[in-house]
Amino acid sequence: MKVYIRHFLQKKGWKLIDMSMIKTKKLTFEYIHRDEEGNVEGITKAVDGVDLDIKEGDFIAILGHNGSGKSTLAKHMNAILSPSEGTIYVAGMDTRDEKNIWDIRKNAGMVFQNPDNQIIGQVVEEDVGFGPENMGVPTKEIWQRVEESLKAVGMYAYRKHSPNKLSGGQKQRVSIAGVLAMHPKCIVLDEPTAMLDPQGRKEVIRAVRALNEVENITVILITHYMEEVVYADKVFVMDKGQIRMEGTPKEIFSQVDELQKLRLTVPQVTLLAEECRKAGMPFSKGILTTKEFMEELQCLLS
Ligand code: ADP
Ligand code: MG
Repeated sequence: MKVYIRHFLQKKGWKLIDMSMIKTKKLTFEYIHRDEEGNVEGITKAVDGVDLDIKEGDFIAILGHNGSGKSTLAKHMNAILSPSEGTIYVAGMDTRDEKNIWDIRKNAGMVFQNPDNQIIGQVVEEDVGFGPENMGVPTKEIWQRVEESLKAVGMYAYRKHSPNKLSGGQKQRVSIAGVLAMHPKCIVLDEPTAMLDPQGRKEVIRAVRALNEVENITVILITHYMEEVVYADKVFVMDKGQIRMEGTPKEIFSQVDELQKLRLTVPQVTLLAEECRKAGMPFSKGILTTKEFMEELQCLLS
């Protein structure tokens, strides 16, 4: 459905039928390790029976410690990997069907951790134009798309710059623009801020939020920075290839002990509020930001 129609209907308060963007059924993936002669040495079940239903326009965050299966799951979302068992449908298309692969990759763009591996152009605008050019988009439209995409991530002023001279956060926003220029319905970002400084992380998260809120693009943000999931509609926590927790950020952050059991670092302010609660101060559960903490503290003191 066209974004402006969706926005119009939402403004009118009409409930839309939620379309699935990504749906998995008992999705399982095993890496098979072989020795030099090709004999099977071992098997790692990296994704283990995952059932997910991500709707069009959702902002989803996936959390989990290292090795919990996040990247393996993400690679199924644009058919880089194909399930060992179970199924995954992207925009209604089965990723196991070879003839869908091109369409799936057009629908679901991927952004990875290291921006240096994703930028290939000598000039920012050229780099962003590569995707649509490969898709056979007419030249005039490519330039329109490049302009729109760079504006959407706040990098239009840098269009004539060399990507090499940009900061990490700027480079990562250029790689996001490169994906956007292919007009995907969905963007999967696999720890896009892991290699960035705090400023770069903020820039990237802000850009990602805008894509979701303004352009209505479905966002799947994989991260292990808990504070980045605050704006998500829904959070999934993975462990040993399985989805172990699922809920709004507030519901997830209310379960501090459970998160720590799953080896996740809970934000300082959430821990502090939880300690205060345990000591008898009536803070609410699942405080996520310093702002929320301060507001509640002021209420308690006044
Ligand atoms: P995460 O992204 O959460 O860190 P991964 O999906 O990368 O998790 O890894 C899940 C499991 O699969 C880990 O045990 C990891 O060692 C294993 N694994 C990941 N990639 C490969 C690979 N290419 N070959 C073999 N095992 C792998
Ligand atoms: Mg990973």
